[in-house]
Amino acid sequence: MMSNPNRVDISIHVGLHNQDRESKMQASMGQSGFVHSTSTFHYGSHGMPNVRMSQNVLQNPAEPRQNTARHYIRQDGRVNIPYCEIDIVHGCNLRCAQCSHFSPYRSGLVAKEDIIDWLESWGKKIHSDIINLLGGEPFLHPDLAEIVRESSRIFPNSNLEITTNGLLLPRVDFAVFEVLRKANVKVIVSDHSGNDIPYRQVLDSMNILRKQNVQHMLRNSNRLWHASCRWTEDNVPVPFQSNLRRAWTACDAKDCKSLVDNKLYKCSILANIAKSVEEGVLSSSLWQAALTYKPLTLDSTVDEIAVHLNTNEIPECSNCPEQLLFVENKQLPSSRVGRGEGP
Ligand code: SF4
Ligand code: SF4
Repeated sequence: MMSNPNRVDISIHVGLHNQDRESKMQASMGQSGFVHSTSTFHYGSHGMPNVRMSQNVLQNPAEPRQNTARHYIRQDGRVNIPYCEIDIVHGCNLRCAQCSHFSPYRSGLVAKEDIIDWLESWGKKIHSDIINLLGGEPFLHPDLAEIVRESSRIFPNSNLEITTNGLLLPRVDFAVFEVLRKANVKVIVSDHSGNDIPYRQVLDSMNILRKQNVQHMLRNSNRLWHASCRWTEDNVPVPFQSNLRRAWTACDAKDCKSLVDNKLYKCSILANIAKSVEEGVLSSSLWQAALTYKPLTLDSTVDEIAVHLNTNEIPECSNCPEQLLFVENKQLPSSRVGRGEGP
């Protein structure tokens, strides 16, 4: 039988973004009747590539998950944000097919002066309980130590985190670990081991952090990662066309704010889409529905910031899946993605 070249089967497995969510979800599955089933969905039309996905689906419970992290104005006049990400590097030394930051398609990094400027400016308007410096692969940034030092100075009461695949840690200068230790940074190592990456390398990274006395934890990203978009057989990321209420309900990135180009985004997914379209690695016509989103700027008042961040579903949520769709951990062949070799 002739196969349709515009169609692709994508195997999707049950999994979760991190260990915390893993344990929470395992508990929920026991308590609230999650159903793990195998289904086939057909997506297409409205000018989108016709993409077929064969999926193992973890169905959501009937009860919608609310925006759990309410944002409020603190006594010091700033808006409280539980968690905020800053991508300091766009490229990565890995090419994970499921990367929600589209790093296999991207390259480059953010200048430390820009990051410090954004932190200084937004530090007058927001407090974030956790600030996560990530990418891409943050250990590709030559000024990581300085960025950590400045983040710690500007947000002395925030917990700093770095999310990394850990594979570059054997090359990191001891002086960088000293800065991480002093700033009490927690390094979250995303385990992307599998056929392409031996688990031994991930263990070595954890051992380095342990020996350097740097706080750390392991995240099971190799088996626990969900789709934020779908892909054609040529590995082109394309959006879903979902019911926005259902997408919002299923979303587990809703509490994940993102500071990019001195703008504050309601979620990191919209920030990564906007940035990737701007860089020309995502198609603006395919992702048009996400580009209507307007992030917060420094002109926004604290009231506007709080209202914006507390908003539930927005039209742009239609780009996201209606269910948690957990995807296989695999590395894209370099010939298929063209960019993303790191800064
Ligand atoms: S390790 Fe994988 S998922 Fe993480 S930023 Fe790099 S390519 Fe993306
Ligand atoms: S666009 Fe909506 S559904 Fe998608 S990640 Fe952001 S908040 Fe979640």
